[in-house]
Amino acid sequence: MSASRLAPDLLRGRTAWITGGGTGLGRAMAHRFAELGAGIAISGRRPEPLEAVVAELAAKGTKAAFAPCDVLEPQQVDQALASITGALGLPDILVNNAAGNFICRAEDLTPNGWNAVIGIVLNGSFYCSRAVGRHMISRGGGGSIVSILANYAWTGSAGTIHSASAKAGVMAMTQTLAVEWARHRIRVNAVAPGPIESPGAARQLWPSDAAVNRITKTVPLARWGTAEEVANAVLFLVSPHATYVTGEVLTVDGGQWLGRGTFGFLDLATTPTSEPGS
Ligand code: NAP
Repeated sequence: MSASRLAPDLLRGRTAWITGGGTGLGRAMAHRFAELGAGIAISGRRPEPLEAVVAELAAKGTKAAFAPCDVLEPQQVDQALASITGALGLPDILVNNAAGNFICRAEDLTPNGWNAVIGIVLNGSFYCSRAVGRHMISRGGGGSIVSILANYAWTGSAGTIHSASAKAGVMAMTQTLAVEWARHRIRVNAVAPGPIESPGAARQLWPSDAAVNRITKTVPLARWGTAEEVANAVLFLVSPHATYVTGEVLTVDGGQWLGRGTFGFLDLATTPTSEPGS
């Protein structure tokens, strides 16, 4: 789905609020939506990366604003939304992308560590969805919410009990809101990425080449995804191409979560196989 194949004004007149929009996948979404005409609002705790992305977008002629906020704090979420609405109008697209994560054995994880990740991912996604959803409902014009999960929301994954539990919770929230807010014409979907190149995540989650190589071997498509590929999946869900899609989770992981069956270890390019009797 390259920009040249999509109507260049696909998102013209729309405004998207992307949490965690100053870095990684969120930044890629901001640029992708902006290319197709959307106004862009981004949030995160640190103003510096937000300022930098808003400057990049403004240089390309996009109407863009940032509102620093910690999604752990519902009051900050409400204040950020008020500031964004003042600058760009009420968003009709929300992407719950902000997250924290680190690898930890379940038995070593402290309540603080658990609460931090659950707070950002599960509570933060609820606070932002609630804040935006209430305004979308009272305005009566519908809207679109997409939350960024992880492919282990389907399966769980060792070392990620906090993140996997939070992401699975956001999946349930997505399905619940999809049904509850359908009558307000608010579509609620999610994207579940697998391993995606991203400097912020790399620092925390795969700090060595050996870790990167081990992860690559688990992906049937035999490579990492790009932030742009995730942005394109989110774009599809918020676009007029997906107006009958709600409550869906689009997994973007090169087949990783399906690749682990009994024979998932087999390399069929080199393993001899034969049909009985042949
Ligand atoms: P990232 O660059 O570290 O992005 C995380 C963003 O969230 C940062 O911009 C960060 O900004 C923001 N954030 C963190 N805590 C926050 C808080 N309390 N309040 C507001 N903003 C907060 O990593 P990424 O790889 O792009 O991840 C983006 C999303 O993709 C996340 O939901 C992640 O779980 C998901 N994902 C990524 C991968 C992958 O392989 N990269 C795989 C599966 C899922 P501040 O630090 O300034 O607050």
